[in-house]
Amino acid sequence: MGSTTDPKLKSFIQYDRNTQFPIQNLPYGVFSTDEKNPRVGVAIGDYILDLKVVEANGLFSDILDEPVFHLPELNPFMAKGKEIWTKVRQRISKLLQDTQNNELKDNEDLKKKALVHQKNAKMHLPFRVGEFTDFYASRYHATNVGTIIRGPENALQPNWLHLPVGYHGRASSVIVSGKDIVRPKGQIKPSGAEQPFFSPTRFLDFEFEMGFVVGTGNELGHPIPVEKAKDHIFGLVILNDWSARDIQGWEYRPLGPFTAKNFATSISPWVVTLEALEPFMVKKEDQDPMPMDYLKSSNPLTYDIVLETYLQTIEMKEPERIMRSNFKYLYWTIDQMLAHHTVTGCNMRTGDLCGTGTISGPEKETRACLLELTWRGKEPLQLSNGETRKALQDYDRVIMKAYAENEHFRIGFGEVSSQVLPSIG
Ligand code: CA
Repeated sequence: MGSTTDPKLKSFIQYDRNTQFPIQNLPYGVFSTDEKNPRVGVAIGDYILDLKVVEANGLFSDILDEPVFHLPELNPFMAKGKEIWTKVRQRISKLLQDTQNNELKDNEDLKKKALVHQKNAKMHLPFRVGEFTDFYASRYHATNVGTIIRGPENALQPNWLHLPVGYHGRASSVIVSGKDIVRPKGQIKPSGAEQPFFSPTRFLDFEFEMGFVVGTGNELGHPIPVEKAKDHIFGLVILNDWSARDIQGWEYRPLGPFTAKNFATSISPWVVTLEALEPFMVKKEDQDPMPMDYLKSSNPLTYDIVLETYLQTIEMKEPERIMRSNFKYLYWTIDQMLAHHTVTGCNMRTGDLCGTGTISGPEKETRACLLELTWRGKEPLQLSNGETRKALQDYDRVIMKAYAENEHFRIGFGEVSSQVLPSIG
């Protein structure tokens, strides 16, 4: 069996060179065409391959011992484990290839039933989110935020270079792209004010992160070793960790953010598997100080993935790009995050979601939230139509995109697009 990311693979489905979803990608999502029966599909060009239909035709019966793709979530499939993920991916790749004696290509009736144009589909949350953990793994982000809050001398906390800092977040408010965000309210106490007051947030922000999805967990008391972490991770999504900075500033001491971040976390509808990202693995820069043994990997790798945020105000006809960063700027790898999360024996479960933290890089345009882009409002963002932004305004739309690309193809993540709506009441 050849590699599913071989650039020579061609699909019988026609698509453009710049598609986000060539046959080398094959990301999983949950979609419906009538709102009634959300089910699992794989994106290919402008289409979705309906895996429920493929499965009902017996084309996975030698791999899967029970149906999993008629369900409105990826969890039962993810729980099957890496060997099954690989076999199913190889089968889907084979069915979509432009080859002779192809059980899908040669079956007009099946093709008609199993291929749905993406414009006729509504995307749903791709998996039932178990628990949500958010890390803080970009050194550039942590340094910028630390500098803004504490000054350059104490920018990084003493623990930061020794362990991937994280906290347990809120899973119930993880939502899929397309769902709008209602401006949250809370307690605010601006610096210099005598008393806190209650108000809609005046500093709503986005944070460009990526999320990794746990496919198979571990038993309580049995940590996941760093070298085995990738076997447990099903794939990656784009993640927008919405933040109310003024609420955060008042409430966060001593236990960290609470209501400032629990109102919404948006993710992209397509889960891109680690297998699809293999051609984009790059060597991780050395860490200094050397990480402790449980965080030390014999071959530390990360991914080269371009990350972009666009803003569309109500005055704009087209969205405008406001930042561009890269996944490779993360200091800690997702393997280290998972190893650290479980080193105490904490058990991960299928569907758990971990955010990487805001992925900022070294240049100004790589700053991945407004707090950094505007240096806490000191340098308002200048938009090309003359508008400025220190914080998100009502009816602003934030669109995040991510893709990995080489000379042959582009592996896209789709997008996370959400509009800010005014506070209620
Ligand atoms: Ca965050």
